[in-house]
Amino acid sequence: MSEEYHYDLVVVGGGPAGSSAAFTAAKNGIKVALLEKENSIAETVRTSGVTWIQSIKEFGIPVDCFNPIKNFSFCSPNNEISIKGAIPKAAVLDVRKTYRWLANEAKKAGADIFVKININDVIKNDEDDIVGVSGVGPNGKITFHSKVVIDASGFSSTVCKAMGFVTQWERFGAGAEYEVKVENIDSETWWLMVGQQYSPAGYAWIFPLGNNMARIGVGVGKPESNVDPTQRLKEIMDAKLGPIKKLGKITPIEFHYGLIPNDGLSRKTVFNNLILVGDSAGQANPLVLEGIRYAIRFGRVAGKVVSDAVKSGKTDESALYPYEANWKKEIESKIKSAGKVQDRWISLSDEEWDKELDIIKELTSEEFIDFIKADFGLSNMIKLAAHHPKLAVRQLFNLVKGKK
Ligand SMILES: Cc1cc2nc3c(=O)[nH]c(=O)nc-3n(C[C@H](O)[C@H](O)[C@H](O)COP(=O)(O)OP(=O)(O)OC[C@H]3O[C@@H](n4cnc5c(N)ncnc54)[C@H](O)[C@@H]3O)c2cc1C
Repeated sequence: MSEEYHYDLVVVGGGPAGSSAAFTAAKNGIKVALLEKENSIAETVRTSGVTWIQSIKEFGIPVDCFNPIKNFSFCSPNNEISIKGAIPKAAVLDVRKTYRWLANEAKKAGADIFVKININDVIKNDEDDIVGVSGVGPNGKITFHSKVVIDASGFSSTVCKAMGFVTQWERFGAGAEYEVKVENIDSETWWLMVGQQYSPAGYAWIFPLGNNMARIGVGVGKPESNVDPTQRLKEIMDAKLGPIKKLGKITPIEFHYGLIPNDGLSRKTVFNNLILVGDSAGQANPLVLEGIRYAIRFGRVAGKVVSDAVKSGKTDESALYPYEANWKKEIESKIKSAGKVQDRWISLSDEEWDKELDIIKELTSEEFIDFIKADFGLSNMIKLAAHHPKLAVRQLFNLVKGKK
């Protein structure tokens, strides 16, 4: 027997984007269903969970959900640098705890959360606009009718693919990671490891979680490299390359694997009765492929815009457009600038990486954070491109600004 439900808004995907959209929409008084295909929210972790203290404060994420990071160390085949900060500006999230907190905020605001619901199709009206989704639940076929659908299904972009609006991402990052217990670790310092032996088009990392726990991972850009990140991760851990050696005995606890889009902001994200948010919209900072804070921020914007539209009785593309206008204004130019740095980084040889670290070393901790976050405010960039005492840093920021 087929189950049927009716909602104002159906959100497909219980990741950070989906939970955040469900939260603001429910808070604004409309009837919301949040659908997740796994047995529970964040059952599978597919991310390293690095984000920024400023974003954590903005979102109100509780203090027991993250480990603060003060210092940023890099190593290349023949160089090693460390940028030390006075106070923590970054953090490594307890991903499960954070994502479950986000979902719980949505539930407390009034959203209904359904797990074990694998959405695989869309329902359309006579005009070919989406008016719901269907899939398989614990009792067989299940259908959700709704005025608006938010596709927050992440990389797979299930809903917009079923609508025929998009195809598979062409450029993306593939990452493999072990959450591990280690003998020795400085819990306030992260490591990024660059060069061919770590990743031919990407980087490797050590992100401390506190309590002698860490995430060690490898990310590889596709289609630039055909290296398998899982295989490469095993190799660098077996060889105890670079800073991995300093960790002493390593005991793997859990394996994580995931894919993240890297096609820039190439997708249209608003259609009649439909919004794309988070990874399904390609909203990630290309420099380190981090998307959690954008998923939460623009998830919240999407939920608010949809609930206002539902209340006004008009949910077509133009009514939902304020969402796209919002994220474009906030991040479009920053992501374009970051893409230029990413293009430079992807083509660096080992020797060039050794030199690049000498440039990065010249940045203060504040400049570094703005840089790696792709938080290139125009005035910041002009200041750094024109006035930084080191020529190489001026050149790097001229590149970001668009000058050769
Ligand atoms: C290896 C790796 C490391 C990363 N490290 C970082 C990092 O350190 N910091 C950072 O900010 N970002 C990082 N990212 C990116 C970050 O994980 C994403 O940008 C973020 O998770 C996007 O959130 P989302 O809610 O859009 O998608 P997701 O987190 O992917 O959530 C999508 C949800 O939808 C569910 N779903 C999918 N299909 C269906 C369906 N058909 N029916 C029902 N439910 C469905 C999934 O089970 C999932 O729960 C990393 C990504 C990878 C791959």
